[in-house]
Formats: sequence, C-alpha cells, structure tokens
Amino acid sequence: MEYLPNIIFAVALILGIGFFARNVKKLSRNIKLGKDVDVSDNKGQRWKNMAKIALGQTKMVVRPIAGLMHVIVYVGFIIINIEVLEIMLDGLLGTHRLFSPLGSVYDFLIGSFEILALLVIVAVVVFWIRRNIIRIQRFVKPEMKGWPKTDGNMILYIEFVLMLLFLTMNAADFQLQQLGADHYAQAGAFPVSQFIVPLLDGLSESSLILVERTAWWLHILGILAFLNYLYYSKHLHILLAFPNTYYGKVKPQGQFNNLASVTKEVKLMMDPDADPFATPAEDDVAEPEKFGASDVMDLNWVQLLNAYTCTECGRCTSECPANQTGKKLSPRKIMMDTRDRLEEVGKNMDTNKGEFVPDGKQLLGDYISHEELWACTTCNACVQACPVSIDPLSIIVEMRRYLVMEQSAAPMELNNMMSNIENNGAPWPYNQMDRLNWVNE
Ligand code: SF4
Ligand code: SF4
Repeated sequence: MEYLPNIIFAVALILGIGFFARNVKKLSRNIKLGKDVDVSDNKGQRWKNMAKIALGQTKMVVRPIAGLMHVIVYVGFIIINIEVLEIMLDGLLGTHRLFSPLGSVYDFLIGSFEILALLVIVAVVVFWIRRNIIRIQRFVKPEMKGWPKTDGNMILYIEFVLMLLFLTMNAADFQLQQLGADHYAQAGAFPVSQFIVPLLDGLSESSLILVERTAWWLHILGILAFLNYLYYSKHLHILLAFPNTYYGKVKPQGQFNNLASVTKEVKLMMDPDADPFATPAEDDVAEPEKFGASDVMDLNWVQLLNAYTCTECGRCTSECPANQTGKKLSPRKIMMDTRDRLEEVGKNMDTNKGEFVPDGKQLLGDYISHEELWACTTCNACVQACPVSIDPLSIIVEMRRYLVMEQSAAPMELNNMMSNIENNGAPWPYNQMDRLNWVNE
C-alpha cells in the first residue's frame, strides 16, 4: 500500500507518454505520405532561422501586444517544465520537492515559476478577451467556426487551470510548511501563492494535505492529458514550430520551384537549333507521373509538415490582399484544409491496415475550390506574415499547376495568355513580326 501512489503515478506516466508516442508515430507516418524534397542545403541558415524564428519568436513580436503575451506563455511553458521534471521524479520516487536541497537556487526557481505562472494567467485572460469579447477580425473569419474556435478557447482554459492548480498546490504546501507538517520541510519561495493562503485559513492539516495532493495530481495528470491533446489541436505548433522553421524556405521568397521536365521543354521550344525528334539523352529528366497536386499525397512532406504546424493565428489571412478585398481565399483555410484532408487520409489508412483505400475525395474540389485558388495574386504576403515559416502559396501554386497542366482548367483569360505565349512568344495576340507596328501609327 505504501507504494500504491508511486505505482499509480508510474502507470499514468507510461499511459500518457505511450499514447503520445503512438500519436507521434501517426503524425510522422502522415507527414511522410508527402513527396520527397531535398532540404539538405544551407544548414547554417536553417539553424539560424530556427533559432531566430522558433526559439527567438522574432516574427511574433511584429504585432507587439499579441507577440509579448505569446512570449510570456511560451517562456512560461519552457521554464515551468523544470518544475514538471521535479513533480515527475517525486511521483516516481515517492519524494517531496526533490530539488529542495538546492537551497536558495531552489527558492529562486520556485519564486520565478510562480511569477511566470501569474503572467501566463494574465496573458491567457487577455488572449481570451481578444478572441471572445473584442472578437478581433482574424479570429472570427468563416473558417474559425466550430472546432477551431472551441480548440482555441480550450487551450486557454487548460493553461489557465494548470497554472491555477500549480499555485494552489504551492499555497497549500506553504501553509503546511508553516504548520511544520511531516514531509513538508521549509523549501521554496512563494511570492504569488502566498496570496492564496488566506483562502485556506482554518483548514486542518489533513484537509490541507488533501488540497495539496489533489492539486498536485490534477496538475500532473492535466499536463499528461494536454500532451495528448496536442495531436488533435492547433497547439501542436509548440513542438512542430522548430522543425518547420528549420525546413522552411531558404530561397528568395519570390522564387518558385520549376518542374525540370517543363523547363527542358521550354528550353527546347526557345532553342531554334534544337531537334524535337532527337533521342532523349540517358540522364534526361523523366516526366512526372502527375503535374502539380490535386490531393495531399501530391504535395511534398514539408508542405504537409506546414499544415500540421499551422497555429491558425490568421496573420496570413489578415495580410492577404485577396481576402481583404472580399475574395473567397484565405491562406489559413488552405493550411487547415490540407491538415483536415491529411487527417482524413490517415484515418482511412488506420481502418484499412495501413493502406489508403480511395475514398472518392481529394483536396482539390472537396476541400479547396477553384475559386479560392485563382483568387491568389501570388504576392507572398501570407508567407511573409507567418510567424512559423509556413508557405501557403506553395500549395496554391502546386494545385494551380495541376489545374493548368493536367486539366487545362485555367480561367479563360489565362488560357488565352498562355496560348499567345506559346504561339507568339508574348502574352499579346499578335504575331511577333507585328509587334512594332504601333511605331508607324
Ligand atoms: S500569396 Fe496569395 S494567398 Fe498569399 S497573401 Fe498573396 S494573395 Fe493571399
Ligand atoms: S499559415 Fe502561419 S500565419 Fe497563417 S494561420 Fe497558419 S500559422 Fe498563422
């Protein structure tokens, strides 16, 4: 019986980490459904980007209020993990405040955690007000109804409750220390939770122990549950922002990837000496099975990683000129749709022994419409605005590529222009010989 709490704790820990590992496996399988892409270049620049953008949060603070609040929650999350480590070891070993022999360092750490916890609570309340009372425009766009809205609020509620439990646990502990209760040696500084102590006045020692233990258990079980919630939530970005910023685009923003086979064709077309009937050289670029993308498996794995990393913050959509002028396009929705479809494909594989059974659906048409795709001006504002280096434009371009090259389904104006380029070497409907006729008019 003496070891029962330790056993229960070990089981909870194994279950919590086990489920999380199972979801990470699924996540990695789904991302690997994407096509291979070479991202082994510019390693130095990639590490720099990750340090600056994910760790340093440099793109978050472009909008100072939201940025500052986010930095507080983020730093709170990272630093309070030291406390979580102590809680885990205490739970497994049956100790209490294992790190307390660190003396004044321990006091400093606990005191800092408490201040951070309070700041996190304040930030979370501000975030909630911005979403639900002020209703900032980017949080109330059509794609933010239903689960995305609930998810955004749920994360705030969980963080609020976890911080409150942490402070309650410390307040009860502090009170027990004052009473000289067994196992509650003087340790830690409690600059914030001391203000909760008056609420516990009059409680007997056993009631205080009950409060302290309940808060302790709920805090750690809540953290394990939150860890498993990540997979189903936009909050997954707290983990994926790091690889995503590492693998993000390092080429100049306006540079698109060219299809090697198309480049070859164009070069042939432009070269008057080229023999279109010549036997292809051995190292010639093979034509891809499919041009562009109509479903998630046609995208590359970095684009799928992008979809899982999207925080649904809407900074891209709020900067998008197409969205601002009332068009149907929202780059955030492009990312959310890609993730939703990828999840659907993943579930299909789960129920079919790891094989994808065609379900008559695809990203194009069932999730993203032609209208949305053609509304894009390819201005890159969404890519520039994204705080975690996501590139919605690359997905739009791949899907347009599919429409043009596989389905000849471009809008009429574009088709005319492309025929003109093909026939006249220019977007205008004139013969090249007539181009300078205007001079004589
Ligand atoms: S590139 Fe397209 S989706 Fe992105 S901001 Fe510009 S118009 Fe909007
Ligand atoms: S793509 Fe980037 S900017 Fe747009 S909602 Fe997702 S995280 Fe925010």
